[in-house]
Amino acid sequence: MGDSLNGTVALVTGASSGIGAAVARSLAALGARVALVARRRSRLEALATEIAAAGGVALSLDADITEEDQARAVVSQAVATWGRLDIVVNNAGVMLLGSVVDAPTEEWDRMVSLNLMGLLYVSHAALPHLLQAASGEPRRVADLVNVSSVAGRRTNALSGVYSLTKYGVGAFTEALRQEVTGRHVRVSVVEPGAVNTELRDHLRPEIREQLARRAQFEAMEAEDIADAIAYIVTRPRRMAINELLVRPTGQEA
Ligand code: NDP
Repeated sequence: MGDSLNGTVALVTGASSGIGAAVARSLAALGARVALVARRRSRLEALATEIAAAGGVALSLDADITEEDQARAVVSQAVATWGRLDIVVNNAGVMLLGSVVDAPTEEWDRMVSLNLMGLLYVSHAALPHLLQAASGEPRRVADLVNVSSVAGRRTNALSGVYSLTKYGVGAFTEALRQEVTGRHVRVSVVEPGAVNTELRDHLRPEIREQLARRAQFEAMEAEDIADAIAYIVTRPRRMAINELLVRPTGQEA
């Protein structure tokens, strides 16, 4: 257990699996009290129990953050429980790859609703609290970390709408960074390449087969991205990591 985040409160969306679960473990191990947000309540409760057994503090908040009232409610519940909010990791996301021409458009709705609107709702609800936390002890700085993707910087024929959402995350991050950095809320974007998680489980089988024919390489683990995010949120107050692009060593594109 570290202590660099002692006294802080973090909220992590998409904490029931993959990158979000790893981020929650790592922030809790650094001393933050962590609100765990996702829809699968049993997964969140199991993670909260695991964090508590390791000496950390966590709160499980099941919600569908594509619903604005639920997104606002999780932020309010974290603040009502612990009185503050210092760190938000907007990680929840879905990647439903496929061509545009024959796309089931409900997949577009799911990506836009979660990757963009969910992130926006959580950010909007959290910002007043982050600004408040940044104005006082213990750190006099706060962090909003948005998880984008390599697909937020480059695209291909199967990635049109997923990339649309992730390019949007990058643009929003930079605009918001300029808006609040003077008040010491650091706004960062993390752009991972391939990570071993449940993300691909939601692809249609025919898309999964197309992807399997692409070049193979060793993917990263969720803990690798959690390390990157821990690095971002533990920098000195004077220093902000605006953007972090992290690929598996073997990933060329
Ligand atoms: P997972 O599928 O393992 O995690 C996605 C998380 O989002 C789950 O915890 C899921 O929980 C949550 N979630 C889904 N829908 C909602 C909702 N409506 N409301 C609240 N939470 C929701 O994938 P990853 O860990 O890989 O994905 C995390 C982020 O990383 C995503 O933004 C993804 O785009 C990004 N990323 C991943 C890469 C990879 O290769 N894995 C590469 C680049 C970026 P639940 O179902 O319980 O709600």
